[in-house]
Amino acid sequence: MKAVCWNGANDVRVETVPDPKIINPRDAVIRITTTAICGSDLHLYNGYVPTMEKGDILGHEMMGEVVEIGSAVKNLNIGDRVVVPFPIGCGNCWYCQHDFWSLCDNSNPNAWLAEKFMGYSPSGIFGYSHMLGGYAGGQAQYARVPFADTGLFKIPDGLTDEQVVFLTDIFPTGYMAADNCNIQPGDIVAVWGCGPVAQFTIKSAYLLGAERVIAIDRIPERLQMAKDQGKAEILNYEEVDVGEALKEMTGGRGPDACIDAVGLEAHGTGLEGVYDEVKQAVRLETDRPHVLRQVMIDCRKGGHVSIPGVYVGVVDKIPMGAAMNKALVFKMGQTHVHKYLNALLDHIQNGRIDPSFVITHRLPLDEAPRGYEIFKDKKENCIKVVLKP
Ligand code: NAD
Ligand code: ZN
Repeated sequence: MKAVCWNGANDVRVETVPDPKIINPRDAVIRITTTAICGSDLHLYNGYVPTMEKGDILGHEMMGEVVEIGSAVKNLNIGDRVVVPFPIGCGNCWYCQHDFWSLCDNSNPNAWLAEKFMGYSPSGIFGYSHMLGGYAGGQAQYARVPFADTGLFKIPDGLTDEQVVFLTDIFPTGYMAADNCNIQPGDIVAVWGCGPVAQFTIKSAYLLGAERVIAIDRIPERLQMAKDQGKAEILNYEEVDVGEALKEMTGGRGPDACIDAVGLEAHGTGLEGVYDEVKQAVRLETDRPHVLRQVMIDCRKGGHVSIPGVYVGVVDKIPMGAAMNKALVFKMGQTHVHKYLNALLDHIQNGRIDPSFVITHRLPLDEAPRGYEIFKDKKENCIKVVLKP
């Protein structure tokens, strides 16, 4: 089959590789009909994750049709149309049983590797390096899905791939990011980033009852999408002092919730909106900018800080004094996708959201290298790329 393979930083290639096979009785193999490139893939593309190897198949946002089923999978049939949650969950461990699907104890045979180097043992994720299980990803014609009886979600007839493919990741991720803010009537939510994850965060904040959403980025077409599609008020951080603007827009108090939907590839100084004296006091670094610091500084006292943006290692100079003395509430993590599937499918079926709004580019699998390039560099007004194997 053909698959998108990692070959080093900024080097992905479409290669011919062996077809996946059933290895365990709970596996299934799917033929992929639609797959997407995620901001999380950019961390790999940029070479920030050290446990990638040449030839690794990328991709964790995939859907398709079941073509092979292991002997222990009783709830699926050949031909079922399914989406694949990006975290791999066994369904049996304490974490899966408590709906913490992205924290599964049994899906990462290489957890020891991460434990050794990073001090934590993550669960398995498709196409996300050997530290996270070494699973082949879904930017390919076929993929093996372990624990398929819990790891495949059937899609009812009448919905297109583009309406449901983002159930794999960015819709639940945006939704959990908002859900983590305990949104109350009247709340003002600020979202850093207007990438695909942020676009769903904005919509989800309104679905969960926010009164106003303020979205922050510098890319004009992304800001425009946040405004037109998301009904957000927008701030271009290259044009305004975000901290000052947020204060002004919230009666001097600051947003009730601040969401970092950017993660470790934050661009800019990261200090926009942080007052000089605060910069001094917490000795914020300027060489490794982080939106994370800014959300902590700008959030109102007692507010919620939610972090869907991915961090993999150590982040330096976190203003812990601000966090402690402002009594901030922090929530973060890889998304517990399985937990949200039924509720979000219901939103799609009832027309409260059509997730396809975010797609700007539809490319054949062969053009994946170009897809990565334009998505990373935000060229050609690119916001979200889907690939059609
Ligand atoms: P993306 O790279 O397309 O979007 C990031 C956006 O942040 C861009 O539009 C960029 O211009 C903007 N940005 C950069 N610096 C900024 C700054 N200083 N202030 C405000 N905005 C800034 O990526 P995406 O697909 O939207 O993903 C966003 C993040 O979410 C990534 O870190 C990704 O890894 C993470 N993610 C997490 C999960 C999860 O389970 N928690 C799932 C999917 C993605
Ligand atoms: Zn993703």
